[in-house]
Amino acid sequence: MALFCPSAQPDMADARVLGVLSGSSTEPRIAYLDEPAPVSDEILSLIPSDVEAAEVLRFAAHCEETSCAHFDGADCRLATRIVDTLSPVVTLLPRCAIRRHCRWYRQEGPAACRRCPQIVTHLVAPGPLEQAVAAVPAQTPIDSHDGPATEHALSCHRRSSSVEST
Ligand code: SF4
Repeated sequence: MALFCPSAQPDMADARVLGVLSGSSTEPRIAYLDEPAPVSDEILSLIPSDVEAAEVLRFAAHCEETSCAHFDGADCRLATRIVDTLSPVVTLLPRCAIRRHCRWYRQEGPAACRRCPQIVTHLVAPGPLEQAVAAVPAQTPIDSHDGPATEHALSCHRRSSSVEST
């Protein structure tokens, strides 16, 4: 089975809702669903039109691997930066339905899960720390899913077609 990106965009392959944003603006936390729900128009219609779905929901979807600027051919560098840069926010691993197929867990193990609940895919106003974690290499052309704000999204970061074809 393909590995899942646990901070995906809703338009990616086999996307499903992994969790819902809870906590506070300064300490966001994801409440993981017992059973991730397939993304549907019905679910997306519940989100106000001026809010990005990835601001309030976490999505999991098939990892796009070489189509993603965070993927170096073997590993997800976003997962590496999360573990290297962010502090754990939980001691016990969250109950998470995708663990067996999660790219971040497969690569980084429990250290990823202890940091995962603080990850908001689409941050409206990322601070310096979030920008450092999310940043893709400066020279890497990107084709963001939803506008300039995702330059620092803690998510899959699709490469432009010109990169894919080279
Ligand atoms: S990193 Fe851990 S908690 Fe987060 S989605 Fe993957 S398996 Fe679930």
